[in-house]
Amino acid sequence: MHYTCFSCGGQYPLTDRRFRCDCGGFLTVESSEFFTPEALSERDFSIWRYREAFGLPEEAEPVSLGEGRTPLVRREIAGQDVAFKLDYLQPSGSFKDRGASVLMTLVKFIGVERIVEDSSGNAGAAMAAYAAAAGIGCTIFSPDYTPDGKLVQIRLYGAQVEKVPGTRQDTNDAAIRAAATAFYASHLWNPFFGQGLATAAYEIWEQMGGRVPPAVLVPVGSGGYLEGLAIGFRALVRAGYAAALPRLIGVQAHNCAPLHLAWERGLADYAAIEPQPTVAEGIAVQRPPRAAAVLAAVRGSGGRTVGVSEEEILDATKALFGLGLFAEPTSASVLAGWRKLPPAERDGAVMILTGSGLKQTKRLGELFA
Ligand SMILES: [Zn+2]
Repeated sequence: MHYTCFSCGGQYPLTDRRFRCDCGGFLTVESSEFFTPEALSERDFSIWRYREAFGLPEEAEPVSLGEGRTPLVRREIAGQDVAFKLDYLQPSGSFKDRGASVLMTLVKFIGVERIVEDSSGNAGAAMAAYAAAAGIGCTIFSPDYTPDGKLVQIRLYGAQVEKVPGTRQDTNDAAIRAAATAFYASHLWNPFFGQGLATAAYEIWEQMGGRVPPAVLVPVGSGGYLEGLAIGFRALVRAGYAAALPRLIGVQAHNCAPLHLAWERGLADYAAIEPQPTVAEGIAVQRPPRAAAVLAAVRGSGGRTVGVSEEEILDATKALFGLGLFAEPTSASVLAGWRKLPPAERDGAVMILTGSGLKQTKRLGELFA
């Protein structure tokens, strides 16, 4: 098993403590094995029931907090059948735990003692949680403008927070510099994070009785979750467990939509934008590093992207509260996106709710006062 560069095809062993190729390209990983439906009935109630799909060495011992296996809740909205995947019901409160569990398992297996990561949001919290579970040191780089309230969960897991002056890009650069002496366990760069996210596709397939839905909507910032879903659904089709891919639909806030603009303009990589603030802060990524793979995944599935306004996101957030679903505005953007699809494309869609509103009760109180 090895890493393969998406750009030049260069290969590296998994024991290499690198986060990208020498050419600057991002790395991918593939498993030659897959789980069988028969084996699943006897397995643990976590993402680790699918472990053959991850491409990890067999000896690697899972760093697990019981992540995954989140509910799929069916509802009828405006006469259409839909389902919400409550992926915010995970140990640290977001879907990122799927990726953190698999990536931290690799980190522990190759003997890393300290990781660095740059995210003050859900990814940072997930990596800090799984570093604590693995007994591995964790430093999170964060822009110095990040409100302290956002860092509480990360700090309480025992991670060290380094505040970096300047832009989000400066924070990213600082993490990359720190990678000279610690392992940069990046949710954006390391492909094992995506292998973990792919488990949501396997769960949806299991929860729907061995079928896949016509469409899956997911919020898109860096696009890691959409890419992970594509990996998972493609693997199901390749194994003969599903007939076709669902259309993968990525939702972006108009205020920061480099992927949506790229899709509209037919670009292979992200479009240059001047980002504006958005309530969907979890998907405000100006220069998504894996954009080429994300756009290819959307197009390869026959899917699309959708752009939504601030008002549409807030409306959708409120509508979810009214259904008893306490998701953060970033997550609620999927419902805003679903509402903008042509009516014929709405039926049967699965919408993934990625992060918990419980992380932002103060902010939500202000927004909806
Ligand atoms: Zn390369």
